[in-house]
Amino acid sequence: MILTAPGLRVGADLGAHLAAGGGAGLAAALRDPAAIIPVIEAAGLRGLGGAGFPTHRKWGAVAAQPGPGKWVLCNGNEDEPGTFKDRFLLAETPHQVIEGALLAALAVRAAHVALYVNPREAATVATLRDAAACWSGHPLLAEVARAVGEPVAIAVVESSGLYIGGEETAAVASVEGRFPFPSLKPPFPAEAGVHGRPTLVNNVETLAQAGHILAHGADWYRALGRGGAAGTKLFSLSGDVLRPGLHELPMGTTLRELVFDHGGGILGGRAFKAVFTGGPSNTLLTAADLDAPMDFDGLRARGSRLGTGAMIVVGEGTSILRKTAEYVAFFAASSCGQCPPCKIGTFQVARLLERIEAGTGRPGDLAALRNLAALLPGSGRCGLVDGAATVLASSLRTFPEEYARAVRG
Ligand code: SF4
Repeated sequence: MILTAPGLRVGADLGAHLAAGGGAGLAAALRDPAAIIPVIEAAGLRGLGGAGFPTHRKWGAVAAQPGPGKWVLCNGNEDEPGTFKDRFLLAETPHQVIEGALLAALAVRAAHVALYVNPREAATVATLRDAAACWSGHPLLAEVARAVGEPVAIAVVESSGLYIGGEETAAVASVEGRFPFPSLKPPFPAEAGVHGRPTLVNNVETLAQAGHILAHGADWYRALGRGGAAGTKLFSLSGDVLRPGLHELPMGTTLRELVFDHGGGILGGRAFKAVFTGGPSNTLLTAADLDAPMDFDGLRARGSRLGTGAMIVVGEGTSILRKTAEYVAFFAASSCGQCPPCKIGTFQVARLLERIEAGTGRPGDLAALRNLAALLPGSGRCGLVDGAATVLASSLRTFPEEYARAVRG
């Protein structure tokens, strides 16, 4: 347990954070800034917001761009159903996150650090503002600025609160004060991000890990994971389990351990049925996957994804059709409307699912759903429409009898 260690839960108190061993990673990085990215690479850190992209490659891409005026955007928008890890880190351990963001700024030589946070949690925003203010004039920040070669400013930026605002180009637009429309890539934010300047966009959890890696070394971090996977992962466990909550576990922990050892098993002594994994936009896992290691490669080998680490558990007796209808309705409501196939397609899928779930499905509805599940992927500028299509296709494939029964009435 590194990110959620009780000693680090000090809120906005920077003195308490440093007294608990915080700041050691940043201090180590300041001694040799050129070694930061190689250490992150050796540690095997990957993006923990969902993509799993190797962190050192993102950092290296921004470091290779010319300054001045580069940005680090710490993405704390977190609005996906079932995911509640970043808000914990920002509220309880804001300095751990800020330290990671400063370390990233040092690695890529960025002058601006934007802590981009969802305004839904007003208390978290207030804590984060207090925490950021503690760094103003602090000797560690002055050292970072000296190494970067220009003044370094930390700002708290409230997002629009919309789910789509977490997509990286939408986050860039938000920080600039524009509506969070995702935009086509390239250019990637690493080349042209906030106000056209090279921008490193990283998830809160990814940045929070960085300080520990620099403080304790790549080998130490790798050894925290299992079966070749590196480090720890925050799992947001919810749904039909006895003990829902946030669990920090070794990367590569099995689904069975998470659900039964840490989650206490299924509510009411029911059988395990499935998990909406990584948030509700991926392929479902079933009882056949209980011994799957939950890491990027382990879940990809099962045709699914680790995503944000959200695991929404479904027990026997809970309708997959109903849950799928809820999630697709969420995606339909969250579509920004730029891409007609996304706006119209997710709305149409939500309408069909609602009708089938209500018992008023018509002959042909299932064929229409299957067609849409095949047609929609890749039709939008961002991954929202792909996520809606993936969870639809997966539930249709894995639990066809539920759909057939509902249509038969
Ligand atoms: Fe907006 Fe959907 Fe297009 Fe993404 S895929 S940019 S959410 S319309």
